[in-house]
Amino acid sequence: MSEERTGFRLWAAAEPDLCAIVTADDRRISYGDLFAEVNRISHGLRTHAGLRPGDTVAAVMTNSPGLVALYLAAMQSGLYLVTLNYHLTAPEVGYILADSAARVVVGAERVEDVVVAAAEAAPGIQVFVDGLPRTDRARPLSALTADMPATSPADTPAGSLMMYTSGTTGRPKGVKRPLSGVDADTGALTYVWLFREFGMERDAFASWLVSAPMYHSANITPAMGALHAGGTMVLMDGWTPEGFLRRVQARRVTGTSMVPTHFYRLLQLPEPVRAGADISSLRYVLHGAAPCPREVKQRILDWFGPVVYEYYGSTEVGTTVARPHEWLAHPGTVGRPASISTLRILDELGNEVPVGQTGIVYMRQGDDRIEYHNDPGKTDGARRDGLMTVWDVGHVDADGFLYITGRAAELILVGGVNVYPAEIEAALISHDWVADVGVVGTPDPEFGEVPQAHVVLADAAPDPDAALAELRRYLTDRLAKPKRPESYVLRDALPRDPNGKLYKARLTRAEEASA
Ligand code: ATP
Repeated sequence: MSEERTGFRLWAAAEPDLCAIVTADDRRISYGDLFAEVNRISHGLRTHAGLRPGDTVAAVMTNSPGLVALYLAAMQSGLYLVTLNYHLTAPEVGYILADSAARVVVGAERVEDVVVAAAEAAPGIQVFVDGLPRTDRARPLSALTADMPATSPADTPAGSLMMYTSGTTGRPKGVKRPLSGVDADTGALTYVWLFREFGMERDAFASWLVSAPMYHSANITPAMGALHAGGTMVLMDGWTPEGFLRRVQARRVTGTSMVPTHFYRLLQLPEPVRAGADISSLRYVLHGAAPCPREVKQRILDWFGPVVYEYYGSTEVGTTVARPHEWLAHPGTVGRPASISTLRILDELGNEVPVGQTGIVYMRQGDDRIEYHNDPGKTDGARRDGLMTVWDVGHVDADGFLYITGRAAELILVGGVNVYPAEIEAALISHDWVADVGVVGTPDPEFGEVPQAHVVLADAAPDPDAALAELRRYLTDRLAKPKRPESYVLRDALPRDPNGKLYKARLTRAEEASA
């Protein structure tokens, strides 16, 4: 099927009985039924909710058919869609609802209380629940679609996404793409990105597992690619390593997107469980969103085979792509810029640095005019010569492959030496006794700042004192003195979001509280 002739709406018209979604509880939804619901929501958003092109609709939803339908409806109604992390608290959701000026919010049943409380911050917002509401403040989504036609509206202006960043370095920032950024068929960007850049074939999407939350652009983008390709989206709600392997095996999963935390957790499984899992159907495992330590990636490649594809990018801008053979030839790389992307490494003055030298990573994707919603100053500060930065630091090698050193905001200045947590974290996670780790800077009278490691020990680790002594010894051979953590904090778990993003500010705050 040619690039021009594929797309969700075409599949829905040509093969309505094809399976579009397998829900987490194994219900099957056909392209025809999904399209009918998308159309009913599109009409409802106009007729009942009074939305017009350019308006914003927000979703606080789990991986569900309702979220997929709302996404597709927004994309064919000229609306901005904001998808929110369903673990956020009411004030956090309220901030985004108010900041984005959303006129409608749709919540999953399980977060109704949070959404209703958050709506206080956004007077006039219409609240819907995908299911049966328990309060008077919310209406069921079915009230929006009642009596609405299942046929496509006559006009279908392209919508777009206004994603908020994960908020790992501060308040989430609304990233607004032009309304033409995503086409009505699920997204030209998705298509270009996955098919052209990864060399993916359509049958890679035959069974596409969506195991990480779809509110994040890293997951919703490839998931929608499945519908663009006429494939089946297999949903999973709540991630466990055993559950993931079971789902892959049961649904003969061909492709999925993952984050490094998933890899850590899979690698912690007992060897017989790993060896016994049938993952032979997997052809494409995309990963990104957070740094993946070299050893971890190598072990996953050894296990999964040459099917592990890495991308680097942000809510704002991207993308680079590292195919399995490229990564093996350039270990540690996050890839080369996608064909629609431009990459430059600049110094503080805006001059391009020579190959191999570290600087600030600037990128541009196509002619995207991306801006921070309500913050033109921040947009201006991030732009330079038509490029944009999210303040990651890195270098390119002679073949044009990019390596990320860390994030400028996380830099620890140890007596004048630049230290990035990612390198220390990668060294520690390579030890079998470490299940998870995050490194932050803490004040020090002599050096100004020193690294502190927050460590979750693996089940295999001995008592804490012996484990810490071993970790200190282990790093002596691997890291220069300023990079070795001055102190360790043992934890049961780290504050990560379901995409593996570590909320570092919470590590330091918790430390202050317990100090
Ligand atoms: P905030 O900007 O609110 O702090 P965030 O930057 O974590 O949140 P995202 O846009 O979700 O929000 O994450 C993008 C960041 O994730 C990138 O800037 C980069 O630091 C990191 N990242 C993404 N892919 C990779 C990768 N393959 N390797 C290393 N880091 C990555």
